Amino acid sequence: MYQPISLQEASRLLKEHGPGGRFLAGGTDLVIAIKEKGLVPKYVVDLKKIPGLSAIREHADGSVTIGALTTMREVEISPAIIRKFPFLAQSAAEVGSIQIRNRATVGGNMANATPSADVAPGLIALNATAKIVGARGEKTVPLEEFFRGPGQTVMEPDEILTEITIPKTSPQLVGEYIKFSPRDMMDLAYVGVAVTYNLTDINRCSDVRIVLGAVAPTPIRARNSEAILEGQILTAGLAAKVGEETAKECKPISDVRSSADYRRAMVGVMTKRAILNAAAPRNGKVSWCDRRDRRY
Ligand SMILES: Cc1cc2nc3c(=O)[nH]c(=O)nc-3n(C[C@H](O)[C@H](O)[C@H](O)COP(=O)(O)OP(=O)(O)OC[C@H]3O[C@@H](n4cnc5c(N)ncnc54)[C@H](O)[C@@H]3O)c2cc1C
Repeated sequence: MYQPISLQEASRLLKEHGPGGRFLAGGTDLVIAIKEKGLVPKYVVDLKKIPGLSAIREHADGSVTIGALTTMREVEISPAIIRKFPFLAQSAAEVGSIQIRNRATVGGNMANATPSADVAPGLIALNATAKIVGARGEKTVPLEEFFRGPGQTVMEPDEILTEITIPKTSPQLVGEYIKFSPRDMMDLAYVGVAVTYNLTDINRCSDVRIVLGAVAPTPIRARNSEAILEGQILTAGLAAKVGEETAKECKPISDVRSSADYRRAMVGVMTKRAILNAAAPRNGKVSWCDRRDRRY
């Protein structure tokens, strides 16, 4: 195992030693893959000794940067994230157990590219971008375009995800993330739904983004459904209509966790609920995040 102290060194190690190497962040996916799924990396490059990859920063232009090695627990309890994007803090709090969240990183969740990754839908709904650094320089891609399929991203093997940036949001922004898994905790999402929109005083919705996890090879936006809500006054009936359309837009598979039909039905229910929950705190109701009971 190598422990480089700069991004350049880490990327160079992958280039010099050739295919078959893996980066290591928290190890909660990589170590399981090695121990239980037969993965045998030729070598491992630990990213944790590289300074500056782990922090949540608010910038003067209103954007927020989350370093790739920031843990789920740090996102879950970050005062800045809780204040600005409580649903994103909630999505991090939905990951595994507190032991897992103390190790698991945001960058690892993105780079591993599991369709059910809990933090991805909320970040995509927030229009986040991913900064990627490698031997050929650096690039920034919208997170919406980062995922290519299960376990696949736009990154080359020697490239490192260094940070996620959430651009400035409107003071009218509301949002929600709902993870559906019957075991309630310590389980991957059967369906994940993130919703964001700007809500005016008269309950008119704009800049609507609906992002689904675990119901397609990558997290996906439900654009037809977004268009139904865009510019409209929010009502329970409209939220139900958007939910029905979202159920049609998703592309779930049947697997050990759930049938495709069940997932599709749950997408409809969860989307409606997420849209209405997002507006709840503005209407004097307790938010889903505050109602959600977490035992560990
Ligand atoms: C018991 C258990 C429960 C879990 N529950 C959930 C859950 O509820 N929801 C959920 O979404 N996930 C869950 N996970 C999966 C896992 O915890 C997350 O995906 C986690 O965020 C991975 O981050 P990591 O830092 O541990 O990644 P690692 O295991 O270190 O790395 C994962 C992959 O990403 C690559 N990588 C890591 N960081 C970078 C980087 N900065 N640049 C380039 N490549 C990188 C590695 O090479 C590796 O291929 C669970 C895992 C376990 C073991």
